[in-house]
Amino acid sequence: MPKLTRRSFMKFTAASIAAAALADKKRVHAEKDDVDRAFPLMTAGATTAYGLCHFCSVGCGIEVKIKDNKVISTEGHPDHPINEGALCPKGRSMKEMTNSDERVTHPLIRKPGSDKWEPISWEDAFDKIASKVKDVREETFTKTVDIDGEEVRVNRTEGIFSLGSAEIDNEEAYLYTKFNRALGIHNFTHQAEI
Ligand code: SF4
Repeated sequence: MPKLTRRSFMKFTAASIAAAALADKKRVHAEKDDVDRAFPLMTAGATTAYGLCHFCSVGCGIEVKIKDNKVISTEGHPDHPINEGALCPKGRSMKEMTNSDERVTHPLIRKPGSDKWEPISWEDAFDKIASKVKDVREETFTKTVDIDGEEVRVNRTEGIFSLGSAEIDNEEAYLYTKFNRALGIHNFTHQAEI
C-alpha cells in the first residue's frame, strides 16, 4: 500500500473537496432545471364549487374547478359518501359537456317536412308542447261505460309516456308524480332505473 505523505494527503483532501463542491453545484442546477421544467398546476388560482353528477341516479358528488368563468376540471368529491372521490367516465367527462360548442342551450324545432332543427323561443316551445299534450290526451283518453251504459271517458291516457330526471329529489319526484296523474298519464318514471 503506497505511503500517504503529508503532501499527497493535502492533494487528496483538496481534490475531494473540489469534487464534492462540483457535485453539489450540479445537484442545485438539476433541481433548478426540474423546477423550471415543471408544468404549473392546471387548477392554480381556480375556485372550487361542489355539485352532483346528473347523468344517472347514483348521484355522485363532483368537485368542480372554475377559472375565468369556465369549468376547467371535474373530479370526484373525495368526501362524498356515495362515490368517495371516484367518478365513472360520464361524470369525469362533465367538463367537456359543459364547455362543448355543441351544447344545446335553447329549444329547437324541426318543422313538418324540414330536414333541419331551428331555434325556437321558450314561450313558443312551451305552447307547442302544451298543445300537443292536450291533443294526444283528447285522442287517447280511455273510454268506458257508466252505470247507465253510456260511453264515458276517464282521466287515463295510454298515448303519453313521461320521463323525469335523475336530478330530481324526493319532493320533486312527488310533485312530478302528482303532475302526471293529474294529466291522466300513468306511464311515467322519474328515471332512477335507467
Ligand atoms: S359519475 Fe357515473 S355513476 Fe356517478 S352519477 Fe354520474 S353517471 Fe352516475
